[in-house]
Amino acid sequence: MNLTDYNEIRGLLARHGFRFSKSMGQNFLTAGWVPERIAESAGLDRETAVLEIGPGVGCLTAQLAQRAGKVLAVELDRSLEPVLAETLAGCDNVELLFGDVLRQDIPDLVRGRFGEMRAVVCANLPYNVTSPLLTALIRSGCFETITVMIQREVARRICAAPNTADYGAFSLFVRWYTEPELLFDVPPHCFHPQPKVTSSVIRLTRRAEKPFEVSDEELLFTIIRAAFNQRRKTLPNALSAGLGTERSEIERVLEDCGLDPKIRGEALDLDAFVRITDGLDSFRRKKEGYLS
Ligand code: SAM
Repeated sequence: MNLTDYNEIRGLLARHGFRFSKSMGQNFLTAGWVPERIAESAGLDRETAVLEIGPGVGCLTAQLAQRAGKVLAVELDRSLEPVLAETLAGCDNVELLFGDVLRQDIPDLVRGRFGEMRAVVCANLPYNVTSPLLTALIRSGCFETITVMIQREVARRICAAPNTADYGAFSLFVRWYTEPELLFDVPPHCFHPQPKVTSSVIRLTRRAEKPFEVSDEELLFTIIRAAFNQRRKTLPNALSAGLGTERSEIERVLEDCGLDPKIRGEALDLDAFVRITDGLDSFRRKKEGYLS
């Protein structure tokens, strides 16, 4: 059966009483080249195990199964169970798990199902959970690469450079842990039902090492979030509001870092945020030492 031919899968879905759910982000691929190209982009081989989120009717799952050693596909919608039992009947290296991926203990799942195999993620993600899901997948540290289709708007934010409207805290978070690449766009007519927006496929490759040494990683992300929470404000104003620190202290730290105190967060790259974090951290330590 051609799993991207909607005329073919319509009958199968109707037979099992399936109804598309918007809240589960169910836009299924109906253009054969797309799952093939996504699977090709994931860099698979028989020593690799893939976590797929949301197999739907299994069009991408089947492509992954042809290339990888093992595929674990987590699907929230139980009504797809009999559908997938038919469409993936010949794929012995696919394991299906029904449940909410956001409720899974990802490291535990990977350890238990993939053992020592190289682990990657490859999926056409449900758009309503893109950010929390990507955050959890990246934070888990389990995956060498994460190749996913998401809304183009989110893909642009992830891959954005400083001084652009798309650049923000999420770009910096992703960049701290991975090297992101924008691979290709997929127009709405390649899905059923058609989404309102264009989609993009991105690949995030885990960094072997953090891009920079930083004295306090938690403080780094607190500073980044504070800078972009009030992105129209200058950095001293945004950070003094977000961190509860005196504005003059922030200005001194920025001067020590050779940065203009009128600068905004959106103009700074990761390196500059790291320098500000180290500067503020050492300023606080000196102050604490002086006070005690
Ligand atoms: N892979 C299929 C394709 O490309 O045609 C379907 C992709 S569709 C965009 C997203 C899939 O994710 C749906 O099958 C949906 O039921 C499933 N899904 C939505 N939320 C989920 C969650 N929290 N955990 C696991 N699967 C989820």
